Amino acid sequence: MKLRAVKGMHDILPDEIGRWHRLEAAFRAMASRHGYEEVRTPICEPTALFVRSIGEATDVVEKEMYSFQRHDDELTLRPEGTAGAARAYLEHTVHARQAVARWYYLGPMFRGERPARGRQRQFHQAGCEIYGDAGPACDAEMIDMLVGFLRELGVGEVDVLINSLGSGDTRARYRDALVAHLSPRRDELSEESRRRLEKNPLRILDSKSPRDQELCADAPTVLDVLADDDRAHFDALRRYLDALGTPYRVDPRLVRGLDYYTRTLFELRGAGGELGAQNALGGGGRYDGMIAELGGPATPAIGFALGLERLLLAMSPDAPVSAPLAYLVPLGDPGAVACLVLAKELRAHGVAAIVDGRGGKLKAMMSRAEQRQATLTVLVGDGELERGVVTVKTMATHAQEELPRALAARVLADRLASTERQH
Ligand code: AMP
Repeated sequence: MKLRAVKGMHDILPDEIGRWHRLEAAFRAMASRHGYEEVRTPICEPTALFVRSIGEATDVVEKEMYSFQRHDDELTLRPEGTAGAARAYLEHTVHARQAVARWYYLGPMFRGERPARGRQRQFHQAGCEIYGDAGPACDAEMIDMLVGFLRELGVGEVDVLINSLGSGDTRARYRDALVAHLSPRRDELSEESRRRLEKNPLRILDSKSPRDQELCADAPTVLDVLADDDRAHFDALRRYLDALGTPYRVDPRLVRGLDYYTRTLFELRGAGGELGAQNALGGGGRYDGMIAELGGPATPAIGFALGLERLLLAMSPDAPVSAPLAYLVPLGDPGAVACLVLAKELRAHGVAAIVDGRGGKLKAMMSRAEQRQATLTVLVGDGELERGVVTVKTMATHAQEELPRALAARVLADRLASTERQH
């Protein structure tokens, strides 16, 4: 039997990892600039946690979870990050020490969906959560931060959709209104939507079937049944976004797949390109009821998750794929000694450096430098040693020059740092 990676789960090989590192570093930098701190929770949680927080009648819980039993415990590989973070927040009574907590996370998630471009069974998310602030100022800041982040990554056009699901019994009232609207046309709905009519009617608004969409077109929207305080919250969010100059569009049919949302809801969609049909780059919303639902004190909360694979598809292809690298080419044994020492000096200056230890012909070493996508190569042979210099070749331009050996590490480190800053 041929052993292969599990369907829908992918290796990320070293030649792709540079873009991942850059994306992750940019995310961490953005999150820290906004006062978020990293949390790392287990990738596996009690199944009941996801059933309770995500909701029994959602696609994720009904059909996509990787669940198993071990030592009498029912466990599930996390399909998303919010539930585990909320569990940790509660378990460590963070609310008792910190009025407002801002957390971020990065890591793999697991959903047994049908694999497609931009849709895997193991995929990676980066997300943020704020506990203890009922918004709407922090809602606006979060959406604005995301829009700014996508811009920084060079993701072209992004559609920002927002909606409010209200709070308290709004959802139940809206559910009733929607069921009342759709029930007389029940027979015209798709089979999936007929099933949802009983279990989770809001999800019918998400249906991809054109007939379902037609039937929903003149359905009442959740914004029609918002209570006064929810409407005031939503209006303030819009005012803040306007003040920040954040583009958005109100989409009263945006519901998103998970049951825990209340009030603010948002989604960012890429405008196609490499993304194809899987164009939701990320999204999130408020879940003011979840902490109490899990047994804690009433704590307002909001969060989002970005899909990293989709961001990589949507990011500008010009984004550099790897950090600058110096490739050292020794010609003969004394040259090898000089290269080893110079590589050590370069690394001490923060530059990635590799010495070609295989030796052999210059041409072979230069082609290995090219394979490694080196930014520059440094040649040291007998002639260079005699003159106290090194020969530096810039790979992109093929320009060649000599630098005094004693200054080489510092000069090259400065030069590489400035090429990196230009990106
Ligand atoms: P969600 O947790 O469902 O709100 O999803 C947030 C983001 O995670 C989506 O917008 C996608 O970018 C990404 N995502 C969700 N499911 C998958 C998947 N199966 N494969 C790849 N990315 C996903």
